[in-house]
Amino acid sequence: MSANDPATSVCGSVDDTARNFQSDPLASAHPVPEMIGNIFACTTSRSAGSFGWMSAQPVVDVMTRWIGLANALHARGVQRIATATQVHGAEIVRHGGGWVGTLRLHGFDGHITSIPGTALTVTVADCTPVFLSHPRGVIAALHAGWRGAASGILDAGLDAMASLDCPPSECHVHLGPSICGNCYEVGPEVVEALTGTRPSRHQYIDVRAVLARQADRRGVQNLSVSALCTRCHGDQLYSHRAGDEGRQLGIIALLV
Ligand SMILES: [Zn+2]
Repeated sequence: MSANDPATSVCGSVDDTARNFQSDPLASAHPVPEMIGNIFACTTSRSAGSFGWMSAQPVVDVMTRWIGLANALHARGVQRIATATQVHGAEIVRHGGGWVGTLRLHGFDGHITSIPGTALTVTVADCTPVFLSHPRGVIAALHAGWRGAASGILDAGLDAMASLDCPPSECHVHLGPSICGNCYEVGPEVVEALTGTRPSRHQYIDVRAVLARQADRRGVQNLSVSALCTRCHGDQLYSHRAGDEGRQLGIIALLV
């Protein structure tokens, strides 16, 4: 039987899958600083592989990573993992506790919960994973590209936190790894959408700086920003602009 025989390849895939079930994608993740109490948050690394559902990667590879993630989170007391097809909008979904497993919804760019044992996830590769948390035990995860930032996803997230008695002034907001202002050249319409001023030509823009200003306007006092750029640090992270089809995962979990 040659090395290229299909049967050999299938056997090899099974072996790889068995190994990946045991791997912990959180071990190589970039942690969110200053998490307190029973809150855990991170962004997965390139070395953990892609968590994107919409790429041409084999289903078995992507689903194996999700199962490995579920195992790793379960070991930390997480029973529920929420994710969604993202549409660059500003809709937030609130998750209760009446379910277990991995839940995939459609059309939400933000998640919020106050139920221990729940992890919220967003897929990103240049867009910003935004992590919101409150010491009272309320967490949110947002997917914020330029369209989301212009649509008010951060305002919607802060409003959702406030609706659970967590005002912006008491929330910790972290802007995770995303493309930096030196790497992100955009057209005049994007600059106008984010700043209100339309330039005459393409410009470089820092979406995290825009999000930071939005947070400041809402009275957020505890803001941190990752030093990692998805393009500058392409060895550690996926970048859509750099041609990657892979997606890392922003994760925030309320542990039991
Ligand atoms: Zn950069």
